[in-house]
Amino acid sequence: MEEYSRPKKRLFIGLMSAAVAALLLVGGVFGLVLKGVGLGKAMGALFMSLLILFLGFLVIAAAGVLLLVLTLYKGREILFLGRLRGLIVKVIYPMTLFLGAIFRIPRERIQESFVEVNNQLVRSRRIKVKHDRLLLLMPHCIQNNECRMRVTGDIRNCERCGLCRIPDLIDLGEEYGVDIFVATGGTLARRLIEEKRPQAVVAVACKRDLTSGIFDAYPLPVLGILNERPFGPCINTDFDLEKVKESIRHFVVPEKETTERPVEAVSGT
Ligand code: SF4
Repeated sequence: MEEYSRPKKRLFIGLMSAAVAALLLVGGVFGLVLKGVGLGKAMGALFMSLLILFLGFLVIAAAGVLLLVLTLYKGREILFLGRLRGLIVKVIYPMTLFLGAIFRIPRERIQESFVEVNNQLVRSRRIKVKHDRLLLLMPHCIQNNECRMRVTGDIRNCERCGLCRIPDLIDLGEEYGVDIFVATGGTLARRLIEEKRPQAVVAVACKRDLTSGIFDAYPLPVLGILNERPFGPCINTDFDLEKVKESIRHFVVPEKETTERPVEAVSGT
């Protein structure tokens, strides 16, 4: 089991807790101000009701953060916490970026931490899909930048010259029977997801594209793998084949099991 307290995850968890604490503080101060201003009876009651609702929501959010840390620590879903990924992806992540900007924490570090937390939450649900319902998305920059073969439509157009890792992907697709696509950007990736309608996605990309992809693809479970950039961003990038294989194996039901028992239906995370 991965250690939950690795710095990458800890950063996001810290910012997430700070965001909830800050909101609680704002709510408390707002309540005190309202009390001091002395609104009319009806208006005062209305504002107080709204404030109590808001604070109630924040207390639940704080409890959620606590249980979330436990989920990350245990590596498996506690209660329905894995399903709260939506709250993390759609609400808390933008708030952590905002806080990060205030505390001058580099955006890329928060994005990396967010990907780690997302992956752990996706893994905690232990979703299994058939091999043909998994989509593997790769960034176009893994293709050698001097290659003129068009691999975005079909990676099998590669001539296996050995200048980049596309041939490894062709072999991987054949070994696991999964669809593998090279996408030139977020728009194409989104279109592929709409067309192929996968039940799970494994995506390799840079921090920025992975975070926006996870955000856009929600509620689809996405395992994100950061690419390697030995020549800088967007040119002749690389990836860890073993991490990709492991992520595929996380989702895909071995052939013999699919004939023995039904696969769990994916209802979003
Ligand atoms: S391995 Fe394939 S995709 Fe890569 S540079 Fe050679 S022909 Fe192009």
